[in-house]
Amino acid sequence: AKAQGANRLRVYKSEYGEHVSKRTKLLFDLKAALHNQRLSVVYQPQFRLSDHQLSGVEVLARWHHPEEGMIPPDVFIPLAEQHGLICDITDFVMQTAIDELLAADLLYTHFPRVSFNVSAEDFNHSQSTQRFLHNFAKLPSHWSVVELELTETSALLNLEGVKNVLSVLHQRGVQVSLDDFGTGYSSINTLRLLPIQEVKIDQSFIQDITQSAQDARLVKTILAMAKALNLRVVAEGVETPQQAHYLKRAGCEEVQGYLYARPMPLSALVTFVSNLTSS
Ligand code: C2E
Ligand code: CA
Ligand code: CA
Ligand code: CA
Repeated sequence: AKAQGANRLRVYKSEYGEHVSKRTKLLFDLKAALHNQRLSVVYQPQFRLSDHQLSGVEVLARWHHPEEGMIPPDVFIPLAEQHGLICDITDFVMQTAIDELLAADLLYTHFPRVSFNVSAEDFNHSQSTQRFLHNFAKLPSHWSVVELELTETSALLNLEGVKNVLSVLHQRGVQVSLDDFGTGYSSINTLRLLPIQEVKIDQSFIQDITQSAQDARLVKTILAMAKALNLRVVAEGVETPQQAHYLKRAGCEEVQGYLYARPMPLSALVTFVSNLTSS
């Protein structure tokens, strides 16, 4: 039994060791990528269903690893959150996107809104407010063009920090969107606690909207609630014309998804916008 125990321990240890070293290497590489500006951003346009005009653009982080290829944000963002790197990523994403969009003359002219994803950690420090103010400093002084997308989980992890920072940013015009709406345990409570202007219906609800009567009813209920509360609604993950048709009939105002446009680098965004305006 003793030998078996030792054996088991050895196996466990080596598996554990392997797991740790792979993550440690990824973390090491992520730090280097951040330091050498080897992260980038992509943009996914959002549209109004009523007239098919552009309503905004969501900025998403990308990491192209020299050996491993694209590492999805679902992998490196949680890693960054766990190891104190997310604030640096947020700063990089915000500054890069604002520089790029201003240089291409897309903000204000074509995109009335730019949305950034933020994490609980972004609100956790004494300099949090200063960091946001600094990141938006290149924009003209009223910041209603900026929107922060935060999930209920991030909001509730650090409610006091989020409230403090948002109260300052809100005065400057910054808007707040509740991301992945409906997937948490207290989405509605979060609406009571924070100054929120928009909800993004999670793509898991949109996926089966044309097959599942239950999901369709849930989406209708979210839309009715949002209307009653004077909130803008964006449906995310719209992939088929049938889904778009249903959403339009149900009174959803804005959409985002592969049906309209995939996330793309700035150069492709410029082409996309010029094709829209010339057609
Ligand atoms: P999210 O904020 O919910 O972003 C939406 C995700 O859905 C994006 O994945 C987008 O590419 C994808 N998507 C858009 N349209 C469709 C569609 O029609 N169908 C499907 N199946 N997917 C669609 P992505 O870029 O891989 O990002 C994954 C998550 O990583 C994001 O989810 C967000 O939580 C996080 N993330 C990405 N960039 C950042 C960032 O700069 N900061 C932070 N804190 N999180 C980020
Ligand atoms: Ca988002
Ligand atoms: Ca989302
Ligand atoms: Ca998500």
